[in-house]
Order: sequence, then structure tokens, then C-alpha cells
Amino acid sequence: MNTFDCLIPVPRQVSIDENRFFALADINGFFVENTFANYAESIRQLFNTFSLAAEQKSSPRTAQFIVEYAPLPPEAFKITVSPGAIVIQSADSSGCMYALNAFMQMLFAATIRGPKGARLTCGCVEDAPRFAFRSFHLDSARHFQQVAVIKRMLKLMAQFRLNYFHWHLIDSQGWRLQLKTSAGLENQYTSTPGFYTVEDIRDVVNTARELNISVIPEMDFPGHSYGTLRYFPQYACVNAQAPGEFCLGNQAGKNFIKNVLLEVMELFPESKYIHIGGDEAETANWDKCPVCRQAMQENNCSNMRELENIFMRDIAQFVLANDRTPILWGTCSGQTYQPESIIQSWLDIREPLRVAPNGNKVIYSVHTSLYFDYPANLSEPWETWMFELSERGVYMTDPHIIWADKVKDVIMGTEACLWTETIPQWRVIPKLLPRLYAYSECAWSAPERKTYTDFCRRKELLEAAGFMDFLIYSGN
Ligand SMILES: [Zn+2]
Repeated sequence: MNTFDCLIPVPRQVSIDENRFFALADINGFFVENTFANYAESIRQLFNTFSLAAEQKSSPRTAQFIVEYAPLPPEAFKITVSPGAIVIQSADSSGCMYALNAFMQMLFAATIRGPKGARLTCGCVEDAPRFAFRSFHLDSARHFQQVAVIKRMLKLMAQFRLNYFHWHLIDSQGWRLQLKTSAGLENQYTSTPGFYTVEDIRDVVNTARELNISVIPEMDFPGHSYGTLRYFPQYACVNAQAPGEFCLGNQAGKNFIKNVLLEVMELFPESKYIHIGGDEAETANWDKCPVCRQAMQENNCSNMRELENIFMRDIAQFVLANDRTPILWGTCSGQTYQPESIIQSWLDIREPLRVAPNGNKVIYSVHTSLYFDYPANLSEPWETWMFELSERGVYMTDPHIIWADKVKDVIMGTEACLWTETIPQWRVIPKLLPRLYAYSECAWSAPERKTYTDFCRRKELLEAAGFMDFLIYSGN
């Protein structure tokens, strides 16, 4: 085999010279251009992992492994292997990291019998992402995860070139942030205990940044709020039965939400996107509440869904006014938001078509294709709301579906979600694998380059070489 022919996700373009080789024993020095100086240590570790002796050199002339800048598109990279040198090129930190990760896969494939006599096929791989937005979501509310688990997940995400981490931080079962506005609420939970301190959040955000991943915090309103409203009943509807939704006519409740979001924006200063939820609110308590009914009249609404829309548009406007971009779950219930808002399509594959005329961009996240809490096979327990989601099922997902001409410019990217109603923290990493490999080709690779049998062949090759075990057992 040629040693380019193992890469996951599958690259855009590979050209090989199958009669020429680079002998790995010839590496004795590596050179890193200043732009990428922060990768010197990981390059040293990479060579150590494969028992290859290479020292850092101050000039490319004395090095056989060269990492340099080239004016490529964002996140793109190029690896050129010739008999005398290996050259890694990229224009940014993401491109450099992805190139080094791809090169590591090549090293696994090349050194399966050990470094002695190991060689790389000469040639060149050029790669760039299909979508600029490639995300993974974790629900830390239903089951709490320690920071160490989240960091392991982030490392796996980076390995498979995912660049956004959508973090679901509150829900009816737990409020996982320690904020001044909601003081005490972090200790109220009906599932596993735990919350993130300011230091924890910094730790996660810093790790994510080092891995070229942006964090998208989610605070889900006005529904999914049983726990919140048990602790702060003053924000619930009048005479509500087991309130799970904020009262839509209660100004103090809305102020609470805005103050929470202000603190969250302070905690996540680099987060361009703030997810504000907007899903699965029930109207029963609103319909019976005199405060909501009065607000409905004052706003000339004919039903509570219209009033809910006004409420959430106001929250979205608040986020926009703070120079962040709001993301909302698509509800398929006629809600419309500011064109700058982003809609996460999870329920209905036709949602992108519905919101496109309004100017919203869409994240493709449809549950039957991308909800990783669904069983990978039916040996796992499942719930009535789930579907089987095999690795094959993930692999065949295409965010454009059959409407590429209509939604090509609307769909900004894709996100796989790990909800945790039934997933305790020790199952988080096992639930990611192996479906994450398949998902990376949906998010990164050009669709015309994807075939499932070829994916399986590359995956089996990397598995046999120990790459997957390395990811799990090395903590990488
Ligand atoms: Zn109300």
C-alpha cells in the first residue's frame, strides 16, 4: 500500500510516486518556522512515540522534516514527501495541527512492524475542509462530566478535525454553572451532582483554544427549566403546575435570563456564538397564566407560540447587541428570528428550506443522522424517542441531502450531538467511538471522495496499526 492511503478523514487530493520512498531512519532533524513554533514540542513527542530520533534544527537545510508557512486557505494543509525531505505546509494553526495529525496516521501505517526499515511513499496530499463549521455537542446537564472527561473529548474532536464544541450547560435536571445571578442553583440537581467553577471553565476554554476549537456555551430558555423554576418560583407562571417554562409576561424572569447571559458572555469572552435554546417549550401553563395572557393581548398575539417568538427574539436581540451571534434550536413551529441568528436544524430535514428565505444560516444536526446518544446497535438499551444510529448511518449523512442547489449557501456546517439522559460520564468516550471517524468524513471530506467500503478499509488499517487504541489509552 502507499502510506497516504490510510487517512481519516479522506483527503481532497492525493498524488503519489509509488516507486520512490522516504526512509524514516533518515530523519535526524526537524525545523519549524517561527509561525508554528508552539508545535515544536508536539513534533518532538510525535517522533518519540515512533522511536525516531530527531532534534530541532535552526535551519531547514539541516532538517529532513520541515514545517513551514504557505498561503493556503483557512485550515488547509499540504504534506509533501520526497526521498530527501518531508514538508508540511499550512497558513494557520489549525492547518498545521491537522497536517501533523494526518502525518501521525501515516506514521502508524508505515511503522506497523516497527521503525526499522519503515518508509513513506513519496507524493503529496492537499486537503481543506468541506464545511468551516464542524461541531460536536455534549450535554453536561443531564449527566455531569468532570473536566478531565471533557478534555479527552476535545482531544478526540481535534484529532478528527472538529472545530466547535457546543456545550449544553443547563437543563431541567441540573444547572452546571456557578454564577452570581443564579447563586445556589448549581447545587440543585435531580441527576448526578456537579458544576463547573470559573477555573473549570477557563481550563476547558484554554484546552479547546490550544486544540483550535471554539466553545459555544448553551443556556436553554424558556423551556427545559424545571430545576431553575423550582429554585426561583417567582419566574414561573401564576398557579403553574410543575412549571418547566419561564413565564413569558414576567419582566423579572426575562431580566434574570439576560443577567445570566451577560455572565456567560464574560465567562466565555472568545465565544462568537451563544446558544440560547428555544426548544420544546410547552404552552399549557402559559395558556392558563393571567400574566402571559395579558402580555399576549398587549403584543397583539393570537396564540402563545407568537408570544414565545417575541420573547425569544428579544433574548436573541440582547445577544446581538452584545456583539455575539445567537444560535437557536429549530422548532418547526413557525418561529422566525433575526436574519443574523443561526438555526440549528435537528427535528426536520426540511427546516433549512423553511428558514432560508428569512436569511438565517443553518447548522445541520438532524437527530436521526447525528444524535450520538441513539444506540449504535440494538444491543444497547434505547428509549422510545430514539432511532438506531449505526456507524454506517452516520457515514451516509449529507447535510445538503437532495437540495444542494437550494441550501448550499444556507448550511454553514454540521454538528453531532451527545445528549446524556441515558449516558453517564463513563460512557461519553465509548459513545464517541467509532462513529466519530465516520462523522469526520461528513463534516470535513468532499462528498465525491467518500465511499463506505474505502472508509472501512482505511479504518481497519489504522485499527490494526494501533492508532485507535493509541487515541484511547494514551489519553490523546
Ligand atoms: Zn405566565
